[in-house]
Amino acid sequence: MTDHALCSPVLFAPKIAIIGGGLTGLLTATLLERASNQTGNTPQITIFEKSRSVGRLATRYRSDSETGKNWQWSFGAQFFTAKTADFQQFIAPWLDTGLLQPWCAEVVELTPASNNEQSPNIQSKEQWDAVHARYISKPKMTSWGRELAAALKHTTIVFKTRVAPLAQYLHHQNPQQSQHQIQNQTHNQDSKQTELFDETGASLGWFDWVICTAPNGQAVELMADSGFAQQEKITKPQMQACYTLMLGWDDVQKLPETLKGQLTPQWDVAYLNSTILDRIFIEHQKPAHGELLPSVTIHARNDWSESHVDDDIELVKEQLLQAAKQALNWNEDSAPSQIDCHRWRYAATIVNKDTEELGILIDATKQWIVSGDWCAKGNIESCYRMAQQTVKAIMQTQ
Ligand SMILES: Cc1cc2nc3c(=O)[nH]c(=O)nc-3n(C[C@H](O)[C@H](O)[C@H](O)COP(=O)(O)OP(=O)(O)OC[C@H]3O[C@@H](n4cnc5c(N)ncnc54)[C@H](O)[C@@H]3O)c2cc1C
Repeated sequence: MTDHALCSPVLFAPKIAIIGGGLTGLLTATLLERASNQTGNTPQITIFEKSRSVGRLATRYRSDSETGKNWQWSFGAQFFTAKTADFQQFIAPWLDTGLLQPWCAEVVELTPASNNEQSPNIQSKEQWDAVHARYISKPKMTSWGRELAAALKHTTIVFKTRVAPLAQYLHHQNPQQSQHQIQNQTHNQDSKQTELFDETGASLGWFDWVICTAPNGQAVELMADSGFAQQEKITKPQMQACYTLMLGWDDVQKLPETLKGQLTPQWDVAYLNSTILDRIFIEHQKPAHGELLPSVTIHARNDWSESHVDDDIELVKEQLLQAAKQALNWNEDSAPSQIDCHRWRYAATIVNKDTEELGILIDATKQWIVSGDWCAKGNIESCYRMAQQTVKAIMQTQ
């Protein structure tokens, strides 16, 4: 053994569980791995995700059996911003490879006609340009999440596994810890660990840190009665629902005039003056999406969605379709051939500009962190900032 080895601190490899494989979870794992490269304390990270994909970044596609071409809809987040220098630097490598693309969309304000005989009123609003760049990922909005997941070296992602509420099981000391483990841990911190379980009661293992990145409503359930030190703060931010309508046409020739791209002003994104609909996005006009069959995604307003969140989805679809028909003014010949609808129960955080941002919630004794986009402004950039805060909190204890 060399003198250097004798003087080196005992390396600690914390076991970290992340509940939720959305962008907050993936970015937290990415930044934890990068930070550990600098300290030499390689963490063992496990992400548990109840679904089979990456959270509210979501893409749905359907293939035309005749042409083999696809309709495609980003039915969760459509784009993201990168306003801070840190986040701009973080995304730069994917901008270089072209996986991320700036979307310089032409944006209009669209007021639907009061009856089907008239055309909607469409007024130019702005162009999303480099000053306030919006980014998309190609070929799908999910592609970036998948790239982030694939690049993780010390992280295991366990899909289709729902972590049970922490309250059901006490936060206790692992009886099976070896003396060696305990010595290593007490070198840095308490030997306390948390055992997680899935919903069938099967153990998912023991962890030094548990990071919950579930949406606010689900985080409340996960942490209820668990003794989490900051429990009452989880309920503070309010999240609202969003219904998404996905429409497809067989051919550009079959599009209604409002979508044919021959109107002035030409447009890619419309902000609606409507009590039901919020925004329309033309998918096949996005950069590097030209191969798609005509596909349009429409987000309903969050307040309307929230007040209809428990309604029958078929009834909701009908109402959204009527509103979309009024906005886009199609007739029998130019009606969409593909129609789908998705309900997001927890879509958007209500941001109150006057109140201070919550930030991540930490229980230092139990080594639990509650995080997610809703701890900040409820967007993708928030996921990155919350991941940074989490990594800082964990690194400070080592
Ligand atoms: C319709 C819509 C439009 C949007 N538009 C934009 C936009 O234009 N720009 C923008 O920046 N952002 C937008 N957003 C917000 C953006 O999608 C989110 O900020 C971001 O995806 C949140 O990531 P997250 O990881 O915090 O949460 P999520 O993506 O919700 O990930 C949390 C994960 O936790 C999992 N989970 C929950 N409970 C458990 C459990 N018990 N066990 C295991 N796993 C669990 C969930 O399945 C989920 O995958 C939009 C969102 C929606 C829904």
